Amino acid sequence: MPLVTLTQGHLKLLELCPRRLQYSYLDQLAAPEDPDRLERQRWGTRFHLVMQQRELGLPVETLLAQNPDLATAIHALEEQSPEWFGPQGDSTETESLRQSEHRRSLAWGAYELTVVYDLLSLTPHSGQVIDWKTYRQRPKKAQLSQDWQTRLYLYVLAETTDLDPAQLSMTYWFVPPPSEDKPKAADRPGSVTIPYSPHKHRTTARDLRRLTHYLDELLAAQEFPKIDAAQGHCQRCPFALRCQRADAPPDPGLAPIPAIDTIDEIPV
Ligand code: SF4
Repeated sequence: MPLVTLTQGHLKLLELCPRRLQYSYLDQLAAPEDPDRLERQRWGTRFHLVMQQRELGLPVETLLAQNPDLATAIHALEEQSPEWFGPQGDSTETESLRQSEHRRSLAWGAYELTVVYDLLSLTPHSGQVIDWKTYRQRPKKAQLSQDWQTRLYLYVLAETTDLDPAQLSMTYWFVPPPSEDKPKAADRPGSVTIPYSPHKHRTTARDLRRLTHYLDELLAAQEFPKIDAAQGHCQRCPFALRCQRADAPPDPGLAPIPAIDTIDEIPV
């Protein structure tokens, strides 16, 4: 199956391990799933759904009444950032566009770079992408800044608006499900904002050219190499058995690689 649409998930895997990209997207092999992770993913999907419905002005009371955990998390988010997520749902400056699950594409040679923003807010002077993360571990800002989700989302936004890269930013909101026992500090929503810049824009363009050229070569040769086991990624990879890099499936307790490559939410 040819790869035409390129998402941040494709770019991450291409950089991490070409063979894993082949298994996941070209061969469409299902990786063994950890039941705990599936449950967290369901919670994340419900959270995204509620936030989307709120943005559309649809009632969410019934959904929240059936999911008290979700109601607690969303009320905590409203308290934390009422200017963004309070009942009015308005940011301070006049928005020319505010939309959830907003999809954009950008032609890139034989490919189409595609992003889906959880929430996009545009004003005449700024563009802000909001992304929900519903897991507990919060990656460091430097790691988020280097992640292909941040880089691709801001790159496509800069290329598809009249705004200068310096006017753009991406904010990750971490909204984990409340703990079953005593609430912990980590249960409180928190955010990290990554500013964009002309320099970052040029660097991302260069890296996109490099990666898509590499992908051209892999597709032409129909050869997606495994990575060196010494890099240490295979022991956490769901395809380790298939690659004969392990005798047993990976321990679900091991942290995924890289930290934000497994996203407990609607996959894009
Ligand atoms: S086990 Fe290693 S080589 Fe095989 S797909 Fe996973 S990361 Fe790549």
